[in-house]
Amino acid sequence: MAKTAGATKMAYYFGKTKTEGKSTQKQLLGGKGANLADMTSIGLPVPPGFTITTEVCGLYYQHKQKLPPGLMDEVRKNVGILEKETGKKFGDSKSPLLVSVRSGAAASMPGMMNTILNLGLNDEAVVGLANATQNERFAYDSYRRLINMFGDVVSGVDHEHFEVAFDKIKAKYKAKLDNEVPLEGMIELCEAYKDIYKKHFGKPFPQDPLEQLEASIEAVFKSWMQPRAVKYRQVENITGLMGTAVNVQSMVFGNMGDDCGTGVAFTRNPSTGENKFYGEFLVNAQGEDVVAGIRTPLPVAEMPKWNKAIHKALLEIKDLLEKHYKDVQDIEFTIERGVLFMLQTRNGKRTGAAAVKIACDMVKEKLIDEKTAVQRIPAGDLTQLLLPSFTPAAKAAAKKDGKLLTVGLPASPGAAVGKLAFTAAEAVERTHAGEKVLLVRKETNPEDIDGMHLAAGILTSTGGMTSHAAVVARGWGRCCVAGAGEVQIDEKGRKIKVGGKTFTHNDVLSIDGSTGEVMVGEIATQEPKLSGDFATVMGWADKYRTLKVRTNADTPADAKRAREFGAEGIGLCRTEHMFFEGDRIVAMRAMILADNLEDRKKALKNLLPLQRKDFVGLFTAMKGLPVTIRLLDPPLHEFLPHDAKAQGELAKELNVSPAFVKNRVAQLHEQNPMLGHRGCRLAVTYPEILETQVTAIVEAAIACVEKKIDAQVEIMIPLVGTAAELKMLRDQTQAVIDAVKEAKKFTGKLNILIGTMIEIPRAALTADQIGEQADFFSFGTNDLTQMTFGFSRDDINTFLPDYINNELLAQDPFQSLDVTGVGQLVEMGVTKGRSVKKGLKCGICGEHGGDPASIKFCHTVGLDYVSCSPFRVPIARLAAAQAALATAK
Ligand code: PEP
Ligand code: MG
Repeated sequence: MAKTAGATKMAYYFGKTKTEGKSTQKQLLGGKGANLADMTSIGLPVPPGFTITTEVCGLYYQHKQKLPPGLMDEVRKNVGILEKETGKKFGDSKSPLLVSVRSGAAASMPGMMNTILNLGLNDEAVVGLANATQNERFAYDSYRRLINMFGDVVSGVDHEHFEVAFDKIKAKYKAKLDNEVPLEGMIELCEAYKDIYKKHFGKPFPQDPLEQLEASIEAVFKSWMQPRAVKYRQVENITGLMGTAVNVQSMVFGNMGDDCGTGVAFTRNPSTGENKFYGEFLVNAQGEDVVAGIRTPLPVAEMPKWNKAIHKALLEIKDLLEKHYKDVQDIEFTIERGVLFMLQTRNGKRTGAAAVKIACDMVKEKLIDEKTAVQRIPAGDLTQLLLPSFTPAAKAAAKKDGKLLTVGLPASPGAAVGKLAFTAAEAVERTHAGEKVLLVRKETNPEDIDGMHLAAGILTSTGGMTSHAAVVARGWGRCCVAGAGEVQIDEKGRKIKVGGKTFTHNDVLSIDGSTGEVMVGEIATQEPKLSGDFATVMGWADKYRTLKVRTNADTPADAKRAREFGAEGIGLCRTEHMFFEGDRIVAMRAMILADNLEDRKKALKNLLPLQRKDFVGLFTAMKGLPVTIRLLDPPLHEFLPHDAKAQGELAKELNVSPAFVKNRVAQLHEQNPMLGHRGCRLAVTYPEILETQVTAIVEAAIACVEKKIDAQVEIMIPLVGTAAELKMLRDQTQAVIDAVKEAKKFTGKLNILIGTMIEIPRAALTADQIGEQADFFSFGTNDLTQMTFGFSRDDINTFLPDYINNELLAQDPFQSLDVTGVGQLVEMGVTKGRSVKKGLKCGICGEHGGDPASIKFCHTVGLDYVSCSPFRVPIARLAAAQAALATAK
C-alpha cells in the first residue's frame, strides 16, 4: 500500500453523466460507495455524487493526517460534474447544490463514523434554498442543522452548547417540540449557532462550501480511528481494511412537506425471514428523525394510504434488488415531493432463524443454489435456533431502561434468569426448593458441578472462554457468562456489587450467554424452534462436508442429545466428570486419600462397577458410532474439599481423622497443578487407576457385544509428551484388555483402539515417534494453546482485555485457534504422525472444535473429525461444509 499521492484515481463519480465504480470494488469504494455505483448502473433512482476511495484514507494516515495533494483538485472536478448534472451550484443564491458527506468502509460499521448533511449551505445559499423550495422555514432549519452537525463532528464544538441555545429559543417561542419553532425562531437560531461556533472553535463558521467539504472529508477520515470505531472493528473482528471511503452525494429532502418522507426497509423480515417487505417510514422527515425516535414511524404496509405509487415502486425495487444481489437487502429511501430516491442498499443483517429460512426460500425461488445457501448462513448464528433466548423486544426495552449492568464473556449461549446463589450447595438447595437461581462465583471448580448443573445459568467474575465454568456449561448447553470482571462478589455477605449498585441473593438478574450481557430483572425469554428448514440446511451441509463431526459428552443423556443434533461419535469423554455425580465423589475421594496401595485398590474396586455402567450407557447411546474415552486427567487435588468444614465432613464419611484428610490434601497440593501431576503422569504413578478404568471399559464393551450392541471403543491417553510414556501405558492398557478378555473367557471380537491426545507441544514436535505407538491422535487444543502461549487457560481473562485493546492479540486464542502458532503444531502433528502411519486417524477435541474459523483450519490441515459440545454439533456440521465449499473453489 505504499502508493504515492497523485498516482491514483482518488474519486469515482456516479450519476447519469457517468458511473465509474462497480459493485465488485467494495475494498476500494467501501460497501456503500460500491453499491451506490451499482444501483445507479442498474437504473435505480439514486441522487448523483462521487466516492473518495479508501486508499485516500490510507494515504491520509500515511501522510501524518494530511489530505494527499491533488485530492481537492479531483473533488472540485467532480463537484463541477455534479453541478452540471443537477443544474445546481455550490453556494448559489438561486439554486444551491447541497450534499451529504458520509463514511463507508468495505465492512459495514453502522453508526460508527461521521456523517454531515446539508453541506453547502451558507448565508447566501440559505436564501437560495428558501427561494427554490418556497419554504423559508425549511431552509433555515436545514442551515441550523448543518451548523450544529458540522460544529459537532468536524470542529469539535460540543453538541450540548447547541442544545442549550435551542432550548432558549424554544422557551422564547413557547414551543415544546423542535418543529413548533416558527421561522423567526429558526433565523435567530442560525445566528446563535454561528456565534456558538465562533466562540468555541475560534473562527467563524466557514461560508465557502468547498472549505466545508474539505474539512468534512478530513473529519470522516479522522473518524476511522476514533475509539468507538476502533473498538467496533475489534469486536466484530474486522481487520485488514485500508480505511473508510467518503461518499459525497447530492441531498434529497424528505422534510419539505407532506408529499415528502423517508424510511428504511428490509426486502424480507430480518427477524423471522418471512418473504414480506418490511420497514418503516416517516412523512415529512429526514433520516435522523427516524433514528432519533421522536416521532413513531409507520409500517411500510400502511404506505399505500399515503402514496400508492411510491409503495408500488418500492415493491418493484425490492424484487429488482433481490434479483440483482441475490440476497436480502437493507435499504434507505427518501421521497422528495412525490419522487422516490434510493440512498443506500446493503446485505441485510438477520437473525439465525431468518438466515435459515431465507436461504431455504431463496433456493426454492431459484434465486440461489444449495451451495450458496450453505455458505451464506453464519454457522455460529445457528446457536440462536438451539437454545432459549431473550425476546429481542424485551431485551431492547431493558437496555433502553438502563438495565444493562455489565458485559462479560459469552461463554456458553442461552438466556438465563434467576436469583443469585453464591455457592454450589446453595444453588442445589434453592433449586430443589423450587427457585430459579444463577450460580454466581468468582470461578467454578469441579466441586461446584452439582450446583452448576441445577442452576439456570452461571455467572463468574474471572476465568476465560476455556475456564472450568465455560467448558462445563457449554458441554451441557447451560447458559454461562464468564469473566465479568466488574462484578464484585461478596460470597459471605451473599451480595454482589456492579456498576455502583448492590444486588443480594433475593434480586433477579438476567444473563445472556450469547453476548455476555448481565442485566437487572427478569427479561422475557423464548424457546427455540427447530423448523423443517433447519433440517434441510443440515442435510445440505452433510452433503458437502468431508470432516466428520463428533461430540464431547460424558453422559448417555448428552450423547443422545448430540446424536439428535447429528454427532457421528464421541470425540472426548472426560471420565473425571463422571466422578462428581451423586455419591461417587465419596468413593473417588477415598481412592485419592488412600496413602497405600491396598486402600487405593479397595476404593477403586468400588468405583469400577459405576464406571462400567457409565460406559455401557455411552456405548448403547452411540449405537455403533466411535466413543473416545479419555483416562483420568485432572490433578487429584481438584477432587478434594479445601475448607476445614468440608474436610471434617469427609473425614467423618470415610471414618478417618480430620487431620489425616488435612495432611493428605496438603501433600497433594501443587504450585502449578496444570503442569503437574496430571494426565498420563497419574497412570505412571498409580497404574492401578489405569487398570481399573480400562477394566471397566473392556467389561462394558464385552457386555455390549453380548447384548448385540456394537461398541466402537477408543481409549485415549492424555497429556503425553514422549513416545516412551505412551509405549509404557499402551502396553499396560493392552495387557489389561487381554487379561479382562481372558478372565471373561471372551473369544469374540472387540473393536478397541488405543490412541493419545496431542496437547503438549513436545508431543506435536515428536509426533512421528508418538505416532508409532498410537492408533489415533486427538488434538487437545485447550492445553496445547495454554502450553504454546504459556497462558493459563483459567486466568487469561485477567489480562486478555489489555491484549485485545492493545492489538497484541486479535482474539482470544482459547476461543478461536491461533492458526499461526498453535496451528503449526497441529499441522506438524498430523504430518509427522501420518509420515509413520499412513492415514492415521486425527481429530480435535479442544473447545476450538466448535468454532467455525478453527473448523476451517481443521479441514485445511486434513483432520478426519472435529469434536465439540452437543449444542455446537449443528454449527460444526455447517462450518465443515462451508470449509469444504470454500476450499473447493
Ligand atoms: C484439551 O486440552 O484441549 C482438552 C480437550 O482437554 P481438557 O480441556 O479436558 O484439558
Ligand atoms: Mg487437556
